[in-house]
Amino acid sequence: MNFTTWGRTYAAAPARHAEPQDEAELRALVARAAADGLRVRAVGAGHSFTDAAVTDGLMLGLDHLSGLESLQRRPDGTALVTVGAGTRLHRLNRLLASWGLAMRNLGDIDRQSIAGAISTGTHGTGARLGGLATQVRGVRLVLPDGSVRSVSDGDAPGSPDRELFEVARLGLGSVGILSAVTLEVVPAYLLRSTERVRPWDEVVGGIDALFDGHDRFDAYWFPGTDRMLTWSHDRVSAAERAEHEASRRGPAGALRTAGAAARSFLDDEVLANGVLGGVMQVAAAAPRTVPRLNAACAAVLGDRTHVAPSDRVMVTRRRVRFAEMEYALPRAALGEVLRELDRWLRAAGEPVPFPVEVRCTAADDVWLSTARGRDTAYVAVHQYHRMPRERYFRAAEEIFVAAGGRPHWGKLHTRTAADLADHYPLDDVARVRAAVDPGGVLRNDYTDRVLGLP
Ligand SMILES: Cc1cc2nc3c(=O)[nH]c(=O)nc-3n(C[C@H](O)[C@H](O)[C@H](O)COP(=O)(O)OP(=O)(O)OC[C@H]3O[C@@H](n4cnc5c(N)ncnc54)[C@H](O)[C@@H]3O)c2cc1C
Repeated sequence: MNFTTWGRTYAAAPARHAEPQDEAELRALVARAAADGLRVRAVGAGHSFTDAAVTDGLMLGLDHLSGLESLQRRPDGTALVTVGAGTRLHRLNRLLASWGLAMRNLGDIDRQSIAGAISTGTHGTGARLGGLATQVRGVRLVLPDGSVRSVSDGDAPGSPDRELFEVARLGLGSVGILSAVTLEVVPAYLLRSTERVRPWDEVVGGIDALFDGHDRFDAYWFPGTDRMLTWSHDRVSAAERAEHEASRRGPAGALRTAGAAARSFLDDEVLANGVLGGVMQVAAAAPRTVPRLNAACAAVLGDRTHVAPSDRVMVTRRRVRFAEMEYALPRAALGEVLRELDRWLRAAGEPVPFPVEVRCTAADDVWLSTARGRDTAYVAVHQYHRMPRERYFRAAEEIFVAAGGRPHWGKLHTRTAADLADHYPLDDVARVRAAVDPGGVLRNDYTDRVLGLP
């Protein structure tokens, strides 16, 4: 079995590959591999750009551990939902919708597995919203000896179980193979998505008001252009919701599903369809055309508003492959970082036909969260997978690191545990890892580099 990440950034040829049918088989596979001296890693959708899922030992695909295990409704309308760890987010969203429920927040695609997404700190955007790991209330995981542990945020603070929960809900699979995840979800809701094209300086100068003024806010720009496309997503009121549903009822009273109009302009016209693929091929063959291509892409962007169920608004499609680096920054540093990145891109003349993306989340207390302890802005740089990225990503990373940035665990970066020790309680993480994995079965090169040895 050969494994390649979605972005074509890493490959692996594991000694063994298995897709257990159930948790009992998963336990036996893990224990046997450990006894045979093999390292063990689970892989979700392979959507990390880093080598987080890479192993030369046993690679486990958990697609069969998918779907609903239990649902517990609460009086306030929220619910605790336990799903198999291999459940893909698109399946999770459909399943939740069928129960009138939804995730509080999502990232911008839905191809990942829930275990993979939480393990790297996947986040969406929203100044008052946390990343996916903040929505996790409990996990069940298989340890290297084949035993099973269930841990949750209900375990006593400071207890071994509570500490294990912290690293299990966001820890690169370094304390066990997750077999089930319990999420706190909310009643289904609609979002109004408003897309606007605005002057670059206006967005950067007013970014705090834009972040704080909307439930969710996202901004994109094509390097070298001076306009930004902004997306704001705001929850609609009950009255607007009733009106929206009435407008979507067919003659027989059945609800029509929202079609292409429920998607964004950038998604429909630029990022998803063949246009961007064609643009990338031209850019790769003739890098000098990139400024003109970017100007043309920016020129077709337009204003648009639509209302749709939350997951349909937040989730976009990405068909053109790219490589990505994303850093989490203290919010106060964002404006200057964007100005510096823009200055570098203009001065270097680097051909970059992919947009830069800007998002935010609320501070949280998850040990390895990139938003740990501070309100956070995210800046992501992308490059078409067939074009050189080293110079661009190196320059961007220097700017991000100088501003106190923390790299996304699933996106390209060069930081090491020594660099990250100021940002995270890595000694505590190592202690928790050593307790459950004294033989280092769950290590790989990436965990060695970014978390250090247990
Ligand atoms: C097109 C695209 C768009 C993206 N958009 C966003 C975004 O909007 N926001 C964002 O924050 N990130 C985003 N990402 C990054 C992505 O969400 C993360 O890299 C995520 O980890 C990918 O999930 P996956 O299921 O593919 O996990 P993988 O990449 O397969 O694995 C990630 C990590 O999880 C571990 N793992 C997987 N399953 C288990 C398990 N059962 N038990 C223990 N460990 C496990 C793996 O070993 C590995 O360490 C995007 C990536 C791509 C390619």
